Amino acid sequence: MDLSIIGSGYVGLVSGACFAEVGHNVICVDNDQRKVDALQAGRIPIYEPGLEEVVQRNVAAGRLRFTNSIEDGVDHSEVVFIAVPTPPQADGSVDLSYIERVAREIAAVLKPEQYRVVVDKSTVPVKTGDKVYETIKRYGKKGAEFDVVSNPEFLREGCAVDDLMHPDRIVIGSKSDRALALMKKLYEPFMAPILVTDINSAELIKHAANSFLALKISYINAVSAICEASGADVEKVADGIGMDKRIGRNFLNAGLGYGGSCFPKDIAAFIAISEQLGVPFTLLKEVERINQSQRERFLKSLRNTLWILRDKKIAVWGLTFKGDTDDIRSSVSIELIKDLIAEGAHVTAYDPKGMDNVRSFKLIPEAKLVNSALEAAQGAEALIIATEWHEFAKVDLNQLKETLHSPLVFDGRNLLDPVTMHHLGFQYHSIGRPGATKS
Ligand code: NAD
Repeated sequence: MDLSIIGSGYVGLVSGACFAEVGHNVICVDNDQRKVDALQAGRIPIYEPGLEEVVQRNVAAGRLRFTNSIEDGVDHSEVVFIAVPTPPQADGSVDLSYIERVAREIAAVLKPEQYRVVVDKSTVPVKTGDKVYETIKRYGKKGAEFDVVSNPEFLREGCAVDDLMHPDRIVIGSKSDRALALMKKLYEPFMAPILVTDINSAELIKHAANSFLALKISYINAVSAICEASGADVEKVADGIGMDKRIGRNFLNAGLGYGGSCFPKDIAAFIAISEQLGVPFTLLKEVERINQSQRERFLKSLRNTLWILRDKKIAVWGLTFKGDTDDIRSSVSIELIKDLIAEGAHVTAYDPKGMDNVRSFKLIPEAKLVNSALEAAQGAEALIIATEWHEFAKVDLNQLKETLHSPLVFDGRNLLDPVTMHHLGFQYHSIGRPGATKS
């Protein structure tokens, strides 16, 4: 089938590459000319494991191309996906101006004789599909034939290619049988379960799913505080509750809390949506509060040990919001570094893939960025592990001990083994495990 994707970011580009991989002809559209130039020149603007090979293979096979022209995309596609940003506004509600703009741009180029399915893949508040339909109708030419479908995306950065090739489920919200038939055909090669719903339910599924996952993280983080106060081990507790099939072990890893481009904004959005609908989802406010307090507790524990942070040299490993990505949007690590700098600490940081983005967005200009984990640790009075990169778990710990000014490690992702660290003579603090500092 012929399809286009408007917005070639983490979702649009990876989805486009994976649709091409199963044999469809895909046009990825973006209005960022530098991104389009890079893609046309064979450079992948984001880091996502396995993506480069899939893009190269499908460009070479003539199934994947890039353009800045929505008209080009819409003209040559039966199905047009929207995968543009839906950022948060100051009050937590979603800024839908990117979606509205694309809807008007699609309307402007829709030809009356061409039937098109417009698919919203961006994460949007319930009822957005109706607005997109009305907008295209209002600005489109008379007689333009189209349907609007909701098809939320559930990929995880860091394993997005695998998630897209092997999804747990595909959610399609549609009012139209004609559009639904095309969507089913499009997804047939993925051989995944398809859940068909109305448009409102499909839109709601995405916010409800992300909020539930964030709730699991905050739940175990709240349990981690109780473990620290009582001497229990949060990992054992998580294993014990996670072995119950009704609960499951995933998303029960205690740490510095969730960040990234999705969870913080989607939870805030779901709170705002519920309030607008007159049914405030107050439980989610507690999820946010616990997430915030996790970082504060961690800092408190650092202060308890180092006493005054001013003029202390602190190393931070990890800048991205999780491992295996270059995405630094709403990264807890960056927030933590800002807190440390505000207290006068001198921060030296390293990340395997995130440093270019940190430099270009100038988020923490006071922090010194260096080229390796051990270089960051050089002479530091404490080391903070803020992101769970595998590379950090493989560092030679004896060498680390020699490199640090004092063998003090604050592991915000429970990446290292407390017993090993103790035997090697580190003063080791982690989250919710024995040996962690009580706050
Ligand atoms: P992104 O910022 O990485 O990519 C969006 C792209 O859209 C950018 O390249 C931007 O240049 C382009 N764009 C903006 N306006 C445009 C326009 N008018 N015409 C053409 N291109 C335009 O964002 P993302 O992370 O891919 O997220 C996109 C949507 O998918 C959001 O709603 C997000 O919540 C949702 N989502 C993201 C993830 C994730 O892990 N990143 C997962 C599931 C859902």
